[in-house]
Amino acid sequence: MANQEDIFKNIISHSKEYGFIFQSSEIYDGLSAVYDYGQMGAELKKNLRDYWWKAMVQMHENIVGIDAAIFMHPTTWKASGHVDAFNDPLIDNKDSKKRYRADVLIEEHVAKIETKIQKEVDKAKERFGDSFDEAQFRATNARVLENQTKADGILSKFKDALEKNDLEAVRQIIIDCEIVCPISGTKNWTEVRQFNLMFSTSMGAVTEDSNIIYLRPETAQGIFVNFLNVQKSGRMKIPFGIAQTGKAFRNEIVARQFIFRMREFEQMEMQFFVRPGTEMDSPTGEVGWYNYWKETRMKWHRSLGFGDENYRYHDHLKLAHYANAACDIEFSFPFGFKELEGIHSRTDFDLKAHEQHSGKKLQYFDPELNQSYVPYVVETSVGLDRLFLATLAKSYVEEKLEDGSTRVALNLPAFLAPIKVAVLPLLKKDGLPEKAREIINLLKFDHATTFDEKDTIGKRYRRQDAIGTPFCITVDHQSLEDNTVTLRYRDTMQQERVSIDALAKIIDDKVSFKKALQQLK
Ligand code: ATP
Repeated sequence: MANQEDIFKNIISHSKEYGFIFQSSEIYDGLSAVYDYGQMGAELKKNLRDYWWKAMVQMHENIVGIDAAIFMHPTTWKASGHVDAFNDPLIDNKDSKKRYRADVLIEEHVAKIETKIQKEVDKAKERFGDSFDEAQFRATNARVLENQTKADGILSKFKDALEKNDLEAVRQIIIDCEIVCPISGTKNWTEVRQFNLMFSTSMGAVTEDSNIIYLRPETAQGIFVNFLNVQKSGRMKIPFGIAQTGKAFRNEIVARQFIFRMREFEQMEMQFFVRPGTEMDSPTGEVGWYNYWKETRMKWHRSLGFGDENYRYHDHLKLAHYANAACDIEFSFPFGFKELEGIHSRTDFDLKAHEQHSGKKLQYFDPELNQSYVPYVVETSVGLDRLFLATLAKSYVEEKLEDGSTRVALNLPAFLAPIKVAVLPLLKKDGLPEKAREIINLLKFDHATTFDEKDTIGKRYRRQDAIGTPFCITVDHQSLEDNTVTLRYRDTMQQERVSIDALAKIIDDKVSFKKALQQLK
């Protein structure tokens, strides 16, 4: 059995071989942490984006979508706090000259301790079988308790250091935990420094400080500055949401792990504007919008069918300057549980800050209360590229078949597959290719199709499995006589003879977004 690291490497090479993801400007040896989506990747990414958009905008009467520009007035980023506070703490190892995020070093150290605890629990579970009481074991086992105290102690010191913005204390934790550089193996660390993650450029012909503009580090601000435009032109009533997908840019210090952490990436964000006080649960038990969106988004992720056990919530240790509650939805990536989406209760921080910096009122008149206020905001923010990676990681399978051969397949949910139907003439002659093209002409108005007549039919099936095509249709001599074809299913590899007239319905049923969206109800 290959380990997770090997599987991850195989996924990366598979992505390249089949046109999902290429390194950016590869002929010039690439650009660090920047990637291009190829012919298959662009389709899969588009389908993931569409699924999010439909679930958010099409399925909600009170959510609308916009597409704001990447360039924004520079004061936007002063108001949002990004110019002053969008920093990561970085630390260098003096021997390897490698740079790390100090917070990530500490978090990974704690994760290692937690893995040790989990191993003890798993061992005991196996030993005791059905009678195993996990809670009791965690509360009483000496080794587990010792490690838990250690992990809690580190996290509490870390939280304290972050809250006080005390970089020396952050460094001290790294020293005390005896964290070593994975490259040099030494503990020879520099000071911890803050590093701003925004890319800047200049607008217009003259380069002066006043012309500096930033590439947006998040899409959210494009929504905030348009809050009143959308509310008024769309006659939106609170609570309502504005959704947006688009590129964001961050000069990440450590950009590894393929498309998990990129310098140019795509976000799908929704800002939900609510009456102040309704964002958190009420004392009388009404669910606040923060918890509502936490659950709704988790349900959406789980609807993809990658296994509920692969998702978990993680509350933020330190709240960002704008938040009164925040958590991540983490996913079990091949390199461990990591953030996939953030849910943040952003209070009225952003709209108030834009009011102050622009001198324009950004308020809503609530007819029920007969008063105006600056709405509170609950944000959901998911990285499209991370979602893509999660999808690849859980769909990629290497199977041993009965005949001893290996099949590599992408078991993608059918509605996400880049190509839905491959039409394959058994031979390149006797009118079979023409018949195959007739079928494509029938289906292509509704579905992404492909035609392939090269190599043996077995090889052609394998190629389609490798890109996740749910259906292959084979056209043979019998097709010319009785208008039937062989329909092959990717997952079971089973084949059945069906009439060409029946194809559209069979395929429509399996590949439409409708079923997935209906589950979200
Ligand atoms: P991290 O802690 O991993 O740096 P973050 O907390 O800074 O992420 P947010 O600012 O909450 O991330 O952004 C929302 C989402 O955008 C994240 O959940 C993630 O899916 C995505 N995202 C953020 N930074 C990147 C990046 N560099 N590359 C790819 N996706 C990213």
